[in-house]
Amino acid sequence: MRKVLNFPTQVDVLGTMRIIIFGPPGAGKGTISASLIKRFGIPQVSTGDLLRESIRKMDDIGRKAKPFMDEGQLVPDEIVIALLSGRLHQPDALQGFILDGFPRTLNQAEELKQFAGIEHVLNLKSSRQVIMKRLSGRRTCSKCNAIYHITNLPPKKEGICDKCGGALFQRNDDNPKTIAKRLKAYRLQTMPLIKYYRKEGILKDIDGEQQSIQKIVDDCIKAIENG
Ligand code: ADP
Ligand code: ZN
Repeated sequence: MRKVLNFPTQVDVLGTMRIIIFGPPGAGKGTISASLIKRFGIPQVSTGDLLRESIRKMDDIGRKAKPFMDEGQLVPDEIVIALLSGRLHQPDALQGFILDGFPRTLNQAEELKQFAGIEHVLNLKSSRQVIMKRLSGRRTCSKCNAIYHITNLPPKKEGICDKCGGALFQRNDDNPKTIAKRLKAYRLQTMPLIKYYRKEGILKDIDGEQQSIQKIVDDCIKAIENG
């Protein structure tokens, strides 16, 4: 397998680093990728964040996506793929990226293949019980999308983002009823991708339940650097 890294702290200028962070809602994809991008100097691309941004602006994509997201259902492939391909063609993504929340269907994975080769898929594993607890206590920054948890990862000042001072909010879809629907969508539409990427030989299983976030991040870095 091609070695993409010469310097463990930075992307090799000649190489690329294209990573998917994979797992059910609440597995910690957003939190872990926020740490990984610092280490590797590549952007995090979250389709959930991009969609929420479109909804805030109420642009064409936002208007179409909102009813699906509020219901805990997947947004139709053509919408998400258009949004993502636009983002990946921006200059900062040329050296690589961490995809968070994409692909979520086999069709999305096939489409992705058309415009970007993926080197690593990190499969963050967590039980349903842990996921429910994480999602119901999650808080998100309205300005910079940083993620907190009311007990596991509280901000220094309640309701305020440590990084940018923005107001924290609870996502619309982080309520028990919608969480259950999102987990069902994951099981039916997204889980088949595990087999798909395992077959390609690029899937790495990561224990996403460990208490220490740093330990999970370290396991991800090891998995990436060991090719
Ligand atoms: P989580 O991983 O906690 O579900 P995300 O922010 O990744 O959070 O996704 C939130 C919602 O955005 C999903 O429930 C879905 O409606 C929509 N969404 C995000 N990414 C995709 C995608 N790749 N395909 C379809 N819908 C998506
Ligand atoms: Zn913030």
